[in-house]
Amino acid sequence: MRTAADIAGLGTVSDSLDDETTPLARAAEHVLIARQGAGQRARLPRPARTRVLVVANQKGGVGKTTSTVNVAAALAQFGMRVLVIDLDPQGNASTAMSVEHRRGTPSTYDMLVEGAALNDVIAPCPDVTNLFVVPATIDLAGAEIELVSVVAREQRLQKALAASGRIGTAAQAGEDRFDYVFIDCPPSLGLLTLNALVAGEEMFIPIQAEYYALEGLGQLLGTVEMVRSQLNSRLSISAILITMYDARTRLAAGVADEVREHFGDQVLKTAIPRAVRVSEAPSYGQTVMTYDPGSPGALSYLEAARELADQSITAPEGIN
Ligand code: ADP
Ligand code: MG
Repeated sequence: MRTAADIAGLGTVSDSLDDETTPLARAAEHVLIARQGAGQRARLPRPARTRVLVVANQKGGVGKTTSTVNVAAALAQFGMRVLVIDLDPQGNASTAMSVEHRRGTPSTYDMLVEGAALNDVIAPCPDVTNLFVVPATIDLAGAEIELVSVVAREQRLQKALAASGRIGTAAQAGEDRFDYVFIDCPPSLGLLTLNALVAGEEMFIPIQAEYYALEGLGQLLGTVEMVRSQLNSRLSISAILITMYDARTRLAAGVADEVREHFGDQVLKTAIPRAVRVSEAPSYGQTVMTYDPGSPGALSYLEAARELADQSITAPEGIN
């Protein structure tokens, strides 16, 4: 497990850190990244086609929203064009990205229930270039029930994405296409999450490093199997991210080992540390990537984003 201390080049490097760069070089690079700011950051290559990632775990408070907005912001800072779809009526992702989400704001609800076009409900994130959001208003709370009587109710999001003309390869969607779309799911396995699982091809599952971390995951994986066999055969799990990792405790290390035993290489090497700056950022309407770019939390999210992006190079047609 790669911890914040490893990333900062301060601690001992664990066995799993099979990177070719030395910790010192990595640390120096990070200092540079933090100083440079987003503008001059080296750009990552664009994936061959848009990657649509579903951030789901029906447990609340495990770091779905925090991971969505920070990985999304990190990728945008690496030069990617990134869209976050806020699918949680709480609208926490919208808040963290400083995007209006009062009732009446064009939102996910309009797209899913009213059939509004994706391009009409997108708002730019003011702090980060190339980062966009479809905000969630409280209206979305009613969507679980309202969608029940709608035709093709599980496919609403998929159809909206397909109709936007901004998802796909360069040939399909042009230079204006999104490179990454993250769908921040609510903490339940209802129709909203189902819409996300049908619309996406990859799952990004944050797991909190705590005692009951794996409890309930069986239910999520069961839902994924059902979706795969009936609604979306392309769905796969491409990343598991351990969040709120406290390197000082045996418990966190034990949980991380257990998660790795279950999921193997699907677990990102970078774990996100429990860090006050990460939890403070949303109250300033920011991601930690702009709120405190040099902090361990921000550097960890930067690494996690880079790991995720590396998958695009090894498996451009989606990960199985
Ligand atoms: P979810 O979307 O799964 O419900 P959140 O991302 O909203 O979870 O996180 C739940 C709470 O934990 C929030 O208050 C958030 O600020 C806090 N949190 C998330 N990640 C971290 C972290 N790495 N360090 C400290 N606090 C965190
Ligand atoms: Mg959330």
